[in-house]
Amino acid sequence: MISKERYLSPEKWGFILNKLSFQLQTSVIGQSVLKQPITAHRIGNGPIKVLIWSQMHGNESTTTRALFDLIKHLHSSDGNSLLENLSLMVIPQLNPDGASAYTRLNGNDIDLNRDAIALSQPESIALKKVFDAFTPDFCFNLHGQRSIFSAGKKGKPATLSFLSPAADKALTVTPARTKAMKLISSVAGALQSDLPNQMGRYDDTFNPNCVGDSFTAHGVPTVLFEAGHYGMDYDRNFTKEMVFKALMSSLIGISSEKYLESSVEDYQAIPENEEDYVDLIIKNVTIETDAGIFKNQELAVIYQEAMKEKSVGFTPTCFAFAEKINLLAHKTVRVHEVMNKNSIKFSPGKSINIF
Ligand SMILES: [Zn+2]
Repeated sequence: MISKERYLSPEKWGFILNKLSFQLQTSVIGQSVLKQPITAHRIGNGPIKVLIWSQMHGNESTTTRALFDLIKHLHSSDGNSLLENLSLMVIPQLNPDGASAYTRLNGNDIDLNRDAIALSQPESIALKKVFDAFTPDFCFNLHGQRSIFSAGKKGKPATLSFLSPAADKALTVTPARTKAMKLISSVAGALQSDLPNQMGRYDDTFNPNCVGDSFTAHGVPTVLFEAGHYGMDYDRNFTKEMVFKALMSSLIGISSEKYLESSVEDYQAIPENEEDYVDLIIKNVTIETDAGIFKNQELAVIYQEAMKEKSVGFTPTCFAFAEKINLLAHKTVRVHEVMNKNSIKFSPGKSINIF
């Protein structure tokens, strides 16, 4: 299986942006490790300032694709009234080298979301400079998550997840966090009919090296958005629509200040993300291991993603097996539906051939 949609190189993104019928206000805010430009777009001139960045993890392209729809909408007659109150600074691909290579890490193999204190990477410095100069009232930190997450224990897939990052070790609900939590609960409320029980919340263990925690500690309400998975939507087109809706709902809430009517308790009631899903469960498999042969097993399979000819390839790999496996799957099949034989040699992470 492959997805063309999920691979979004800076070239492809530039090509898509060039198709816009209006001129974007664009500035180069830095250069990546491999000397690619990092660009930002200033949209609107209203008093409330929102800093938004995506793809600080290069292989998380869904939110960048949603940003395209957002930028387009804000320049339409339906959407532009929102800009009376808002000024956006949008950095669509903070990690262009990772976007090119379809990797989480940057060109120095560093996770930019663990570099907020060290500021050891040019991409981290570029973001921090914009943060200092733009002095945002809100920050949106856009990410994508793997297909393994459920919204609560054994819940539905977490198609969107959120976090109001901590500001300190004690997890104090600071004024900035109160705003972020209220904003998230207003968005989760607005999207409940689109995503019933399909939204999760990340655990808020404080990590000052994470950008969201760092900006929250600086007193700026920061929301982490995670584009997740649903069903067989490996292109994440449905998820992209949901991210767009979540972004719109957030901006409308901020602009009208209606989000302040939502509650911190409702935020805390959003189920936590659990790692309860695999991509595929194959039933009635004979598993061969060094420890022996196990008949009539359920095999849990996880797809490993990697760039493959300007697309994202999904390789099925062994994850776990049991007579009755304690996991949920986006798809369940019997062995003869996907293999000519009914036995496989199992080791964790080993790729398997299925049709
Ligand atoms: Zn991420």
